[in-house]
Amino acid sequence: MADAALLDSVGPDVYVRIQTDLLVIGDSIITDRHHASSGNYDPDDPQNQIGGIIPSFSLSGWLRHGMERVVQQHGGTACHPGESNANFRKDDVYERDLDAGYHPKGDCVEDPTADDGCLVFDLFGGFGGVPGKVMRRPIQFSPVRSSVDYTRGQAEGHYRRLNRNVVSRNEADNREPLRNVEVDAVANLDGAWHLSFRELKPEFLGLLDAAIRYLNENCTDFMHQLGGARNFGAGIVECALVNPLYEERELARVFDRGRGKTQTMEEKDQTWEDKHLSEFESALEDRVEG
Ligand SMILES: [Zn+2]
Repeated sequence: MADAALLDSVGPDVYVRIQTDLLVIGDSIITDRHHASSGNYDPDDPQNQIGGIIPSFSLSGWLRHGMERVVQQHGGTACHPGESNANFRKDDVYERDLDAGYHPKGDCVEDPTADDGCLVFDLFGGFGGVPGKVMRRPIQFSPVRSSVDYTRGQAEGHYRRLNRNVVSRNEADNREPLRNVEVDAVANLDGAWHLSFRELKPEFLGLLDAAIRYLNENCTDFMHQLGGARNFGAGIVECALVNPLYEERELARVFDRGRGKTQTMEEKDQTWEDKHLSEFESALEDRVEG
């Protein structure tokens, strides 16, 4: 059983540093171009760098996948992300997933309002109005670094609309353009993803830390890239859990390229590694393996 004081020193809010050169989240990036354009927005103008919001759906799926892997590495199984009564187009794929470390979503709980279920169910919820105990927020990004508030889960980055011409492959057509594809993208993203725990348990932090490490180590693996256009190098994300013991000004300092860690921050890193993390890791092992 982890020391309650250790949990209290972490608090409900944690931040994951996310760095990526190119992120493509389909058409679901919300931009604030109306501020910049007054009707004259030109998406190809490099001067027209605007900010926006990355919704948390894709981020959440990416994190969940990393957590599922960690649970499976400990010999456990995780809720399958799909509904068990869904009419899967490829039934054998679902069966194969179940063999590879998943159980049908919700099979780990009898009463969703009373049982915790598996760790993935506990964190991400499932059905019956059970929200899950980790709240994933969207990331607001801005091209103007000085206006980025990392302590509110924001990032530096800018929105661009990419245009791709799809041309005919038929030789007689002489590469005649068939259609134009527009892709919403965020470039040079660096910022903090804000997660809040509705209820904090030591094994949650053990799992979060391990999953973020796993995702960082496997960031070029197709399965663990984020969003779309992965065949074109998008979605390679370097990530790290920002030490939850940092205070707000220390969190902001993590993103300040001109300044390093203070001695207090170094000491907090040591405390986190030696004291907190070892507790939280064993809580994770107990929950999954025990
Ligand atoms: Zn489950």
